[in-house]
Amino acid sequence: MSETTNGARVALITGSSRGLGRATALELARRGHAVAVHYVRGEEAAREVVAEASQLGVQAAAFGANVAEPDATKGLLAQVEAELGPIDVLVNNAGITRDTLAMRMKDDDWDAVIDTNLSGAFRLARGVLRGMLKRRFGRIINVSSVVGLMGNAGQANYVASKAGLIGLTKALAREVSARGVTVNAVAPGFIESDMTAGLDETLREAYLQQIPAGRFGDPEDIAHAIAFLASDNAGYITGQTLSVDGGMVMR
Ligand code: NDP
Repeated sequence: MSETTNGARVALITGSSRGLGRATALELARRGHAVAVHYVRGEEAAREVVAEASQLGVQAAAFGANVAEPDATKGLLAQVEAELGPIDVLVNNAGITRDTLAMRMKDDDWDAVIDTNLSGAFRLARGVLRGMLKRRFGRIINVSSVVGLMGNAGQANYVASKAGLIGLTKALAREVSARGVTVNAVAPGFIESDMTAGLDETLREAYLQQIPAGRFGDPEDIAHAIAFLASDNAGYITGQTLSVDGGMVMR
């Protein structure tokens, strides 16, 4: 456990100004973590999350950084540690889509998605691991996706990034799990958020047909799974990908 003033564990949740990340930050705050709320553009939204988390009686602060930029990830970790203390829990949640068929996909679309979703997650994990290993405790949770397991037309960049996160999770877990640090992934199915709000009705209906639970997920469904993986109770779970998708993919 890190040395914050109140002894709380410190969690950095990337992309927690809204959506799944916001719900995760608030759930971890509810469970007593000091939370680093992170955004790239949505400073005001992030400050609102900080205010909500603070009302739960924990330390919380907002940090802006583009996770696609190597220097920005370094700066982000330094700022969080200076303000809240060493990072015990890293949730790599920030993510973007730039959908189009592979034949039409521009290098820019590929690079932006891989840099944000995968390379950013790798750099942040690399940046927190040394401290976690030294302190013999750490939790890294990578937010992948159902499509990283099953593929999806029109999302070659996104699917590659999300499948990459599953591979990264397994590789890191093999390197660090002997020293109290677990690395896992969560694979959300179709969750109501800004990311999915733009989908047309026909596509939504088609997705719904594939979900045994008969409903789309809420951000809180993901937050609960992540909070469990971050807890002491999940200490013997590592290198795994937990699907939270209403049964959409069964392996
Ligand atoms: P949203 O689009 O609602 O939120 C994305 C978050 O990521 C925002 O906080 C945004 O910050 C942040 N972000 C985006 N780009 C960057 C960047 N370059 N640097 C730093 N932060 C960035 O997404 P969701 O909540 O829906 O998704 C969260 C994660 O869950 C993503 O990784 C997504 O791929 C994954 N996921 C979502 C599913 C869904 O159905 N919604 C399904 C499966 C996986 P800001 O507000 O400042 O723009």
